[in-house]
Parts: sequence; structure tokens; C-alpha cells
Amino acid sequence: MNIKPLTLSFEFFPPKSFEGMEKLLQTAGQLSRFSPDFFSVTFGAGGSTRQRTMETVIKLQKSTSIQVAPHISCIGYDRNDLATILEEYQRLEVKRIVVLRGDMPSGMISVGDFEYAHEFVKFIRVTTEDYFQIEVAAYPECHPLAHDMEADMINLQKKYDAGANGAITQYFFNIDGYFHLLDECARRQINMPIVPGIMPIMDFEKLVRFSKVCGAEIPRWLYKRLEGYGDDQQSVRDFSRDMMTKMCEQLLQGGAPGLHFYTLNDVQGTSTILQGMSTNALLQPRLAASNYR
Ligand code: FAD
Repeated sequence: MNIKPLTLSFEFFPPKSFEGMEKLLQTAGQLSRFSPDFFSVTFGAGGSTRQRTMETVIKLQKSTSIQVAPHISCIGYDRNDLATILEEYQRLEVKRIVVLRGDMPSGMISVGDFEYAHEFVKFIRVTTEDYFQIEVAAYPECHPLAHDMEADMINLQKKYDAGANGAITQYFFNIDGYFHLLDECARRQINMPIVPGIMPIMDFEKLVRFSKVCGAEIPRWLYKRLEGYGDDQQSVRDFSRDMMTKMCEQLLQGGAPGLHFYTLNDVQGTSTILQGMSTNALLQPRLAASNYR
């Protein structure tokens, strides 16, 4: 039985348009009612969203009372640039960040001063000491570029040893892989919360595209089930909501320390899963305070 309070967090991407920002702020307002621990805001590797990520953080800070955690990916940056970003976030009183390497954008030549996330985590600890709560990425199904699971675990260990406080996983649909990751962390004394990343399924084709890029496996039974719905998006969403609700319950029951939702800036997919779990004993204390309908 989990005795520590579960963490709940929602991830957004920085919108490109005024309308997109309006929609995001509405989504954030509605999701605030679940009393999440934090909202996170992604960062386009190579700096493509550096400004927009910061603007989104500022807007979310102004419009909600929820803590906001920007992502920062180090690929392509030198240490001075990264130090400036960290200083800007300190000025904004941001206390939590999600630290990543990022993927090299096409056309970019130099990886910058840090090739891997653990080097950047170390730099943050040296320059800002314990100011930030640092989350890093973990991969239940192995990072696509890792030679094998062992190499990926060694990499996670390095991020922990460098000073990470917690990890959020890539999304997945095979829960055995997540529990294997927890066992491996326990065996290696990687003593930080490893929170599963949850991807609500709203659109089958988009899911297939994303999953190819990030290396998340869609199990054959699930692929075939979703493919079978064809253009019937409502059936895709109904089926996925029930499946994901059950999966989240199993994750919490099995010891997951919380849930991190990849919201895609949309309220529906995430909120229907959480509403479906409203009687879950582990999540109940948190949802009892929420008045979301
Ligand atoms: P690292 O931890 O550095 O690892 C990357 C790979 O390199 C792993 O395979 C690792 O095993 C391998 N590796 C590490 N060290 C070595 C070494 N010395 N020799 C050989 N191999 C090594 N991307 C973005 O651009 N912006 C975001 O906002 C963003 N948010 C994310 C949030 C979450 C929760 C997750 C799970 C991913 C996110 N990503 C984001 C994607 C991420 O940037 C990519 O998966 C990227 O390829 C790896 O980043 P990392 O921080 O895991 O890298």
C-alpha cells in the first residue's frame, strides 16, 4: 500500500497562436480542479520554442495557482545559454524543472556543451545547487537510441547520481515494462519516484505517428482494436478511456507514485480518465477536493 501522497501532473506544449494560448489557459483552468502538483511545459529541442515555453510558463503562473515546471533540453546549447535560461526561471520563482537532452533537430550541426542529460543535471547542481527540483526522463521500453536496457538503466543511474529528484516516463501501454523499470531502480538503489507518463488516446493515426518517433510500443491487440474503429473517433475515445482508466488503476495499485498526463493541451482525454477513477481509494483523497464535472 502506498503511504506517500500520489503526485499528479499535467504536461502542455507551448501554443503557436493566440487562439492556441487561449485554449491552453482554459484547459489549465479546468484541469486545476484536480489539484495537480504541477503543470509542465515542453521545450522544442534546439531552442525552437525557447521563448514560447517561457511565455507559456509566465501565462500559466498568472492564470492559475498551480506550480509550473518548464522542460529544458540541452542539445545544441552552450553552457552560457543554459545558465541564462536557468537564471530567468529563478527570477520567475520557478522551483521545478524537467531536464532533458532533446533530439538533434535536422540541420543542427553542433550538439552543444552537453551531449547527455546527466551532464546537464550535474551542471545545474553545480551552478544552482539545490534550488531546483529536477525531474528527468525514464524509458520503460528502453530509449530508441540506447544499445540495450542495461545501457539505458546505467544512463538513468547517472542522472540520479548527478542530482535528479524524480523521473517521468515515456508513455507506454505495456505495464509489465513499467514495473520491470521500478524493480530495476530498486535493485540499483535509484531511490527517486518514477512517475508513469500517461497518454490519453484521442486520435489513432496521431498516436501511431508519435509512437514510431518516440519508440513507444502499441501492442498488437490494441493496435488491431483501434484500427478496427476506422474513422469512428468516438469509439476510439470511448474504448481508450476505459482501457486507460483501468491501466492507471493497475499502475497505482502496483505502486506507481503518481500519474503524469500528456494532455496535448486538451482537457477531455485526461479528465475523463481521472473522473473514471473517482472512486479509486488511492486517488480519492486528492479527487475529493476536486469539483470537476
Ligand atoms: P539522455 O538521458 O541523455 O539519454 C538519451 C540516450 O542516450 C539514451 O538512450 C541513453 O541510454 C543514451 N546515453 C546516455 N549517455 C550515453 C553515453 N555516454 N553513451 C552512449 N549513450 C548514452 N524532448 C524535447 O525536445 N523537449 C521536451 O520538452 C521533452 N520532454 C520530454 C518529457 C518526458 C517525460 C520524456 C520521457 C521525454 C521528453 N522529451 C522531450 C524527449 C527526449 O528529449 C528524447 O527522448 C531524447 O532523445 C532523450 O532525452 P533524455 O533526456 O532522455 O536523454
